[in-house]
Amino acid sequence: MDLLIRNATLPDGRSGVDIAMADGRIQAVGSALAVSAAQEIDAGGNLVTPPLVDAHFHMDATLSYGLPRVNSSGTLLEGIALWGELKPVLTQEALVARAMQYCDWAVARGLLAIRSHVDICDDRLLAVEALLHVKRQVAPYLDLQLVAFPQDGLLRSPSAFANLKRAIAMGVDVVGGIPHFERTMADGAESVRLLCEFAAEKGLRVDMHCDESDDPMSRHIETLAFHAQRLGLQGRVTGSHLTSMHSMDNYYVSKLLPLIREAGVAAIANPLINITLQGRHDSYPKRRGMTRVPEMLAAGIDVAFGHDCVMDPWYSLGSGDMLEVAHMGLHVAQMTGQEAMHACFLAVTETPARILGLSGYGLTPGCNADLVVLDARSTVEAIRLRAGRRYVIRRGKVISQSPAIQATLALPGRPATVDFRLHPG
Ligand SMILES: [Zn+2]
Repeated sequence: MDLLIRNATLPDGRSGVDIAMADGRIQAVGSALAVSAAQEIDAGGNLVTPPLVDAHFHMDATLSYGLPRVNSSGTLLEGIALWGELKPVLTQEALVARAMQYCDWAVARGLLAIRSHVDICDDRLLAVEALLHVKRQVAPYLDLQLVAFPQDGLLRSPSAFANLKRAIAMGVDVVGGIPHFERTMADGAESVRLLCEFAAEKGLRVDMHCDESDDPMSRHIETLAFHAQRLGLQGRVTGSHLTSMHSMDNYYVSKLLPLIREAGVAAIANPLINITLQGRHDSYPKRRGMTRVPEMLAAGIDVAFGHDCVMDPWYSLGSGDMLEVAHMGLHVAQMTGQEAMHACFLAVTETPARILGLSGYGLTPGCNADLVVLDARSTVEAIRLRAGRRYVIRRGKVISQSPAIQATLALPGRPATVDFRLHPG
């Protein structure tokens, strides 16, 4: 074997597990495996998980904070206007450099798969070319999936549909959209129809920014579910944000959720961004603006948490840590029950892996040998601590490593190191 991890705890709670890897794949999972390996890691009972996955990101905008100026109001609409000011002065070199820096951060955080939207409304498609280049560069250590995103509106921006088709022809993976940003509700619905039909024709997945609004009448998710079902796109369509659902009438939602489930449409909430950008027109009480995560999970709908933004026109914070995203999602959705907290961990690991359609993701023999050893004993503790990523492993090789937190205390009679785990033993 190339690499052997001893004494791991798995996300499902099994403990004392060894994982043996060779030829880039997991070969065996079990207790006290009688194998030897070139390298052995003692997990010491800590959690070993498949990599973190971000189902919703904007890598063309990331790390551009302050260019050409900062978002002074901190609102979604000023963010979109600011991005419009930045687009004409973007250079491919700078865009690639920022994206590559972000990928370094991601790997160090155990984040090894990202679905990033890329704005296709710039006729030069400069960001598309740049991110396709980045995708090839980072492929050995990170899966980057790209979504053709018409930020200025598919119908509202004259060349958007033609550009979207060009981007797909160049190698972009997924069809995006933004129906709530079209000029009318009717145009929004028409954009959903056009995009779903295009995706069905090309055999592609769909992931739309959908109803990112506090307007309870923004119901494009209903149209998205309708066309997904009509065109047989079950399991391949995702609605991102869906924040209007927070404000919708409860009776309407009770009809809507089974329709989403029946259409096999997945949902992505972006807790850091939703909690800061939604509810901005409210006085008090202020709405939280995140979509109905526990209700959708209870209805059998796949729900992932996305990071959405890191240091860009919309959000001035973030560092690529999906455990921070899960932490915020847990709080905003009040998912504090034991099973609910565990579900928040799944929302940044196996659920988004399913939404992206990643192959070889998981912890069974034959899966890719892609793993993260965390400084925590359980999924809940991992979220509580935003636990250190001791080892990040890709195809059976350690690609990032960080030491345990060691703080020397001067207090007499106390241990010389601090252990943030409960009952460390
Ligand atoms: Zn987004």
